[in-house]
Amino acid sequence: MTSDERRETAESLRYLLVGHRIRYKEQFFDDVAEAVVGYEDYHDFDTVIESIADLIDPTASVRLFKVLDEHGQEMVRPTCSACGHVIAGAWAFCPGCGSRLVRADD
Ligand SMILES: [Zn+2]
Repeated sequence: MTSDERRETAESLRYLLVGHRIRYKEQFFDDVAEAVVGYEDYHDFDTVIESIADLIDPTASVRLFKVLDEHGQEMVRPTCSACGHVIAGAWAFCPGCGSRLVRADD
């Protein structure tokens, strides 16, 4: 989830407070799920919980991908699994999307 998507989701959650009163737990879940996951997507409990966790603490891992250098030569570089930004050092957060970088097996 990118920073823009996180901001849009936070805006959708805040929009639930405007002229809308949630009265029942089922309605609460459905409204929050739609704001967090989306109206068209399937949203079971696990999907909604994972999306909320990504809003609070977005994480990504560093993976090796083939990229082209400035001369068009293919080379393998460590990249962010969430956004594909090249990770050029021992960074704790991705400079492309802001995700906290974790080991793939964490
Ligand atoms: Zn990233």
